[in-house]
Amino acid sequence: MQYKKPYFTAALVALLVLGFLATSIVSYLIAHDSVRNQIAEEALPLTSDNIYSEIERDLLRSILISSLMAHDTFVLDWTLDGEKEPEKIIRYLKQIQQRYDTTTAFFVSEQHRKYYHPTGVLKTLSRDDPADKWYFRVRQMNDPYEINLDFDTADRDRLSIFVNYQVTDYNGKFIGVTGIGLSVKRVADLIENYQQRYSREVYFVDREGKVTVRGSGYTGAERLQDRAGMDRVATHILANPSSSVNYTRPDGKTVFVNSRLVPEFDWHLIVEQAESSADSRILDALFANIIIALMITALVVTIIWFTFRRYQRRLEEMATTDKLTGAANRHVFEIIFNHDISSARRNNTPVTLISLDIDNFKAMNDTHGHDCGDTILYNFTELVRGHIRASDTLCRWGGDEFVILLNDCNAENAIRRAETIREAISRYPFRCGKVNLDMSISVGLAEYAPGETLPDLIKRADTALYTSKKQGRNRITIA
Ligand code: GH3
Ligand code: MG
Repeated sequence: MQYKKPYFTAALVALLVLGFLATSIVSYLIAHDSVRNQIAEEALPLTSDNIYSEIERDLLRSILISSLMAHDTFVLDWTLDGEKEPEKIIRYLKQIQQRYDTTTAFFVSEQHRKYYHPTGVLKTLSRDDPADKWYFRVRQMNDPYEINLDFDTADRDRLSIFVNYQVTDYNGKFIGVTGIGLSVKRVADLIENYQQRYSREVYFVDREGKVTVRGSGYTGAERLQDRAGMDRVATHILANPSSSVNYTRPDGKTVFVNSRLVPEFDWHLIVEQAESSADSRILDALFANIIIALMITALVVTIIWFTFRRYQRRLEEMATTDKLTGAANRHVFEIIFNHDISSARRNNTPVTLISLDIDNFKAMNDTHGHDCGDTILYNFTELVRGHIRASDTLCRWGGDEFVILLNDCNAENAIRRAETIREAISRYPFRCGKVNLDMSISVGLAEYAPGETLPDLIKRADTALYTSKKQGRNRITIA
């Protein structure tokens, strides 16, 4: 038992720790997986959809406004009337711009190729000016309008989203182009908003992969192909109208990417998120799990250890003492005897054995009952124990016979001790119910002689005890 306990405890700890670890790791992996799925299949496409639908809403509104302008009878009549009094159309454009809060509003007439703008007549368009190319393209279109990203004629540095709407007269003849412009900044603000709310990177790239619009938090290269770790997936993204991929950043983190082509711009909208932010929470949970598991393990082991120790002590006690009196049993007495004798030999000190037996105990048992006999045996033991030292050993040798091993004690001193005990017994008021009982003991005493075995010594003491009995009991005889 004593030897097996550490192995048992170690096995138990290993079992508990392994069990807890396994469940923690499995739940970590499941959570980890579901977070990855959630990012790749839900969060990123949703962000992309939201941004795209906001852009579409803006564009749709702009197309409606431009259509309104292109079909406005005032615009048609004023143009067909020979574009007299330009302030009228300028005022009209200014009102459109203010009312719909657009960056710009414009009208270009086919007849005079004049660019009308809320601030005045900005220029006359020319076939040779590359900046005016758009007009000649729109003129040739089959569709009534287009959406075009271009630099504003009123401010060459400002990139705008233009709706260019063909204006035709009442007979369907082409007489010019009108429309409004929206600042790209609105789209950039939108991106910024998403970027900050969800710590995702949102940006646009053109067909070649060049980054066109991005939020302020954008980090990395100007081309998709040059973004660290992304070279492998860039071609796939650019070749497909929509895709969901992931790549590994140089720091080892997995980044999920969702892309979709915005046909009106001919740009890809890209939304990215690294798994780290969501992952760190799961990792925290894993560590918390493990710590709790270790604490539970420690607690369980402590409880088991204490329980074991208690049971072990009980077992040891049961194995070494007499059940009724609590005195040492024969088996343990032999061990104690050998131990005491060898230390006595080392220290050259005397050891004496007292053998004692209750007088006429059988008669008492027969008269007053076995239970009464038990009580007397118990009380007797307590009484004797009160008259010996902690270093002495009291043993129930059997029935009503006891032996006492006195350490560092010669026969002379042992006689005195035995005499005290004998006297104490004869004076003690033993009781059985209401009956007072006079008890006495007979004693045999033998000092240990070098080389003697325990049976030899016991035998000598027993012989002396027998003499005491023979000579009338309640007395001491020395071997
Ligand atoms: P003696 O003076 O010669 O010793 O006479 P005795 O009656 O004491 O005789 P003996 O020592 O031979 O008898 C011991 C008796 O002790 C026998 C038995 O009935 C009783 N006895 C032994 N063990 C127990 C016990 O555990 N409980 C009780 N109640 N009695 C016991
Ligand atoms: Mg007896």
